Amino acid sequence: MLSRPEILIVGGGVAGLSLATRLGKSMGKPGKARITLIDKSFSHVWKPMLHCFASGTLSNENDKVNFISQASGHHFEFWPGEVASIDRENREVILSPLLEADGSVILESRRMKYDTIVIAIGSCANDFGTPGVKDHCMSIDNLVEANAFNEKFRMELLRAFANTSELDIAIVGGGATGVQLAAELHKALEIVGPYNLHAFGKAPPKLHVTLLQSGARILPAFPESVSAAAQKELEHIGVTVQTNARVAGADAHGFILKDGSYVPAKLRVWAAGVKAPEVTTAYGGLTINRTGQILVNPNLSSIDDERIFALGDCSFIQDDPLPATAQVAGQQAKHLARYLPAWIEHGRKVPGCVFHNKGAIVALGKYNGWAALPGGTVWGGGISHGFSARMAHLMLYRQHQMELFGYYRGLMSCYSDWVETFVRPSVRLD
Ligand SMILES: Cc1cc2nc3c(=O)[nH]c(=O)nc-3n(C[C@H](O)[C@H](O)[C@H](O)COP(=O)(O)OP(=O)(O)OC[C@H]3O[C@@H](n4cnc5c(N)ncnc54)[C@H](O)[C@@H]3O)c2cc1C
Repeated sequence: MLSRPEILIVGGGVAGLSLATRLGKSMGKPGKARITLIDKSFSHVWKPMLHCFASGTLSNENDKVNFISQASGHHFEFWPGEVASIDRENREVILSPLLEADGSVILESRRMKYDTIVIAIGSCANDFGTPGVKDHCMSIDNLVEANAFNEKFRMELLRAFANTSELDIAIVGGGATGVQLAAELHKALEIVGPYNLHAFGKAPPKLHVTLLQSGARILPAFPESVSAAAQKELEHIGVTVQTNARVAGADAHGFILKDGSYVPAKLRVWAAGVKAPEVTTAYGGLTINRTGQILVNPNLSSIDDERIFALGDCSFIQDDPLPATAQVAGQQAKHLARYLPAWIEHGRKVPGCVFHNKGAIVALGKYNGWAALPGGTVWGGGISHGFSARMAHLMLYRQHQMELFGYYRGLMSCYSDWVETFVRPSVRLD
């Protein structure tokens, strides 16, 4: 090992940023190791809220965590850039050049030495090679995509205002992302309704969202009663839910279904299925599965290399696969934060990570929400819905903030968000 061990964390998402912050405290601060976080963007957002940024019901300026600032206050370093490949023989990662929007180079391609790497690069939408999806659909897998969708959504809404017409949006995927986005878009339109937009048109536009789900029910990860209740709620607010709707292709005007029918849509969103970013194929020949996830042992080390760990959406535990959720990513980050120091300092093997299922929560904007909790939790288990479930969904984010900022700053951030609701519009208007 190098004189001061170099720990590289690739990806500052739910798992990576939490891990960097914790290791910064336990190993960076006392000088036991140099912790470096590498991310291709400059800030972190709580990904389960991306549908709110996409619809404009949350301002991402308030809810972004800047990596430079987080690193300087928590005893780790931040390097901007995309890890394009890993040279396992020389124990180096290779970063792509960092480019400005016009293509000019800010930083040339770089190599960084490591003793231990933790890969936490998350996931992206999986279109399963469906024809036309790449060219004609949008996704909301990161802040750039969510903002791009929001820009389109606002412009198309104004166009619909001007023409007194209906805006058709079709979303493929009846999991949490698609379901929550459908509800949040309706919420955005409800907020816009009372604004004085006479310059654009006489009557507010109508929004028609169609949710296409290939399986027999939406929210398949939840109990059947939650799927049925969520579908009823969506239909109540005006969303058309089509189950058993297999998409065969997309074009510039809508989706073609396997049964030959056509769903017209001005905006088309693909939110069905996830896969690891394609770059994992260039990570030093590490074994990956069909969706590009890195195969790991129960203790999250790669099955090929004990110096490389992978966690969160980009990893796959061989004998005990887990869903791609923030809950899994967060628990795995805590596990590595607890056991990596002993491995790095004393070579003590990291034990297997045991996942404790704390249930699943889905929130349909301001309309409704469901929490399916397993038995044996402090809440006793079962299904709750309504305000308490919506609050529980929000609390997950607040808890994440507290973990990153500490209790007092987390509380202040909560308070400042609340104050903002009185001084800013509650939907993004520009
Ligand atoms: C709209 C939406 C709603 C969701 N709702 C829920 C929910 O309600 N509950 C739930 O549990 N889960 C939800 N999820 C899933 C959850 O967000 C993910 O499971 C979780 O974020 C995974 O965490 P992660 O740390 O593995 O990856 P991420 O949080 O995705 O972070 C990955 C990071 O890696 C960086 N990165 C990627 N490639 C590279 C590279 N080559 N080099 C350097 N950096 C790189 C990215 O910039 C990013 O910062 C939702 C997801 C979406 C998109």
